[in-house]
Amino acid sequence: MASLMVVNRCLKAFANNYGKTDGWVEQTVKLWSRGLNDIHDRDLIRGTEEWCKKRRTPPNLSRLRELIDGNPQSTPVQSKSGCPGCDQTGWREVSRWYLKKGQTVVFNGVSPCDCPLGLRYAAGGPTWNIMIDKWREDGFTDQVFHGTATEPHLTTEQRMTPEQIAEAKERQKNVHRPVKGWTPLRGHK
Ligand SMILES: [Zn+2]
Repeated sequence: MASLMVVNRCLKAFANNYGKTDGWVEQTVKLWSRGLNDIHDRDLIRGTEEWCKKRRTPPNLSRLRELIDGNPQSTPVQSKSGCPGCDQTGWREVSRWYLKKGQTVVFNGVSPCDCPLGLRYAAGGPTWNIMIDKWREDGFTDQVFHGTATEPHLTTEQRMTPEQIAEAKERQKNVHRPVKGWTPLRGHK
């Protein structure tokens, strides 16, 4: 919500107060407007004034946010929400079936969703859809499954080959050991 104009104005105020250059304002303004995009203009202005009155050193982005978020007069920031495709968790279930040394193996994991909550977890990195496109381009990929808005959770048949299912059934007869668990997937190539 904080407008680029107000972010720019506040950065100039910090530059004047703490002896920063115009170049610093130019370099910083994009990053700060992204980091402050859920802060209201008037809360940002109030926070900037308060900082300049009280502190001897210029803020960095996160410390300025702390000051603004800590002020009871500030408009509460809406928490980021998930979507049906990730069952509100921010993480999509994904599964890649691929050939390894002539055998079909399955990778199961979760990847940041492309909804607001998922984008926060991705922190600028790739989201599930980008990951899946890469997999599909890979010649070793056999098939790919992912959670959808109607079916956010993958089925056993999507996560395991028929052979693995048969093996797991066989194992369960003897020992109660969980089948291969979930691996967080981040920046996976
Ligand atoms: Zn989502």
